Amino acid sequence: MNVRVTSLLTFEDCPRRFFAENILGLKVPSAAADIGTAIHTVAERWYKEGKNFPGFKKAAEDEIKKFPDTLNIENVIEIAGLAKKFISVYGEGGFDYQVIPEIRLQIPVGRHTVSGQMDALFMPLFPGMPAKIVDLKTGRNRAVTKQLAIYAFLVVKSFGGIHDVLTRYEWVRLNEKDEYHYSEKHLIEIELWINQQVKQIDKALRKGEEGFTCNPGHVCAYCGYAQQCPATSGDYNPPVEDSIEDLAELPTSPELLTSEMAEKYASRLLALQGKVKQIENVLKIWTEKHGPLVIGDQAMGKFEKASQRQFDVKKVIERCQERGLNPLEYITLSSTAAKKLERKIDLEGCYTEKPSPPTWSIKKVETVGLESTVNTVKETVEILAEDEKAVPEQPTVSSLVKDFGVFLKGVEAPQEALENVRVAYRCSESGKYDETFWDALMSAVAWQGLQNEKAQEIAYMIQQIENVAQAG
Ligand code: SF4
Repeated sequence: MNVRVTSLLTFEDCPRRFFAENILGLKVPSAAADIGTAIHTVAERWYKEGKNFPGFKKAAEDEIKKFPDTLNIENVIEIAGLAKKFISVYGEGGFDYQVIPEIRLQIPVGRHTVSGQMDALFMPLFPGMPAKIVDLKTGRNRAVTKQLAIYAFLVVKSFGGIHDVLTRYEWVRLNEKDEYHYSEKHLIEIELWINQQVKQIDKALRKGEEGFTCNPGHVCAYCGYAQQCPATSGDYNPPVEDSIEDLAELPTSPELLTSEMAEKYASRLLALQGKVKQIENVLKIWTEKHGPLVIGDQAMGKFEKASQRQFDVKKVIERCQERGLNPLEYITLSSTAAKKLERKIDLEGCYTEKPSPPTWSIKKVETVGLESTVNTVKETVEILAEDEKAVPEQPTVSSLVKDFGVFLKGVEAPQEALENVRVAYRCSESGKYDETFWDALMSAVAWQGLQNEKAQEIAYMIQQIENVAQAG
């Protein structure tokens, strides 16, 4: 079965509603949903049809004909207006992103697939940059869901070389936006959640309708299945679920635990972890807006972190050598640094693989037994000491601006552009990345006569300057 991202979220809210919509194929007429679909289609047509696009009003008129039960001529202005707002997003790619509107991605999960359709995906044209997803919302309920995290996961899984995804909900009626950044590390959690949901759907499918339990609550108010739903008619006897308190009845000795009970507790543990994560996410957003929460002697919120010492490995090696100590006995290489180094040089033969003692953890099924720890400590320190080029100096804003100036000179930029780079360089040397700095830098770029590939190189250099300036 293919499960759409929105259906995964429906299943989490109420499995019976998922059953009604996805298995029975029940579709309840909804003007709000049809307006949303019409807006998306008009915006997509504008992008794809180019010169043949008949205009927003005409395209909106075409769309309302597809929904005669819910939409009429009075909806045309609204659909055309919001579609115009949508298309402004497509222009955000600039020249360092390729915009792909209405892209559908699908990945296998167990014996099923999960798919999602994104309103706009921005794929970076330069390595190391994050992908971007924008989801345009026409509703007014700014609810927090996992939708963007799942989309980010689909992008990382579907395209090689993407490790970070910047996502955004654009609330077109409210003129508001909510932004979230997902790295591969965050997406491990969402992958676990997806696997768990699909597993539960699979289990329910094997049982038939009874497998899809009703979960009456505030969601019933928006459920088109409410009139037929046994939970709202009083005929429904929910299956007796083990409550959290049952955990207190865990046998005191593991020998008394049957495999059936162990499985039950394991699935309860995963469900509780999912709930904990959900609560954490909501509290993160709440505390961002309202400040820290203090419960007893505990506080939660965003706090300054103690500064961390970043060692200069070369200096540490020199200092050890001055004192007659063997640096190889003290310096270790983290697996992250080893991975970074491996992108530059081949470390084959520089490490031995030591089996790690088994520790209790929750892992993806397919990764169990496949992980290894790269132990590259001594050998890599030797390489670092021998080959200074292996650890490049961290670029500074002024070194990058200087490189940029040299580049512009090489492509025979006009004097005016070079003068602007000099202004930016002087600002960067004094650590001032203010308006004068950015104006000068951008003016240096704004001259005619660049070939396309040079423009891309310039975009990449400006991006690097921006990154380092922001990090500083
Ligand atoms: S009415 Fe409520 S309990 Fe019934 S299917 Fe809809 S959301 Fe679920």
